[in-house]
Formats: sequence, structure tokens, C-alpha cells
Amino acid sequence: MSGADAPQKAPQARPCPICGKPAVEKYRPFCSKRCADVDLNRWLSGAYAIPGAPEEDEDGESGPAER
Ligand SMILES: [Zn+2]
Repeated sequence: MSGADAPQKAPQARPCPICGKPAVEKYRPFCSKRCADVDLNRWLSGAYAIPGAPEEDEDGESGPAER
């Protein structure tokens, strides 16, 4: 991180429930789409049955999503 000149966000953000890393606002409360996918799989693997057709959200099909 560079350019910490605007302390808008609290330093204590909610950690990712999957890996414990600081969550990203874009994928909150997860740190990345991968972790969000992990949580989603947990739901799907559970007793929850999502009605309707499975929608594949291709948010990052190109480029390594490191953030
Ligand atoms: Zn995570």
C-alpha cells in the first residue's frame, strides 16, 4: 500500500472469515473473490438449495486478481 494520506477507513476492518486476511470492500466481507467463492461453495455444499439456474459471475476472467 502506498499513499496513506487519507485515513478514511478504520484500521481495524473485518477480517475475511475464510482466510482471516483484511477484507476488501469489493468482495466484503471477504478478501477476494476466491474466498467469496469458497464461502459460496460452503453454502451450496450445505443444506441450502438455491432455486433457479446457477449464475456464473465472471467478474475477473482475465488478469490475476491479487487484490
Ligand atoms: Zn480471504
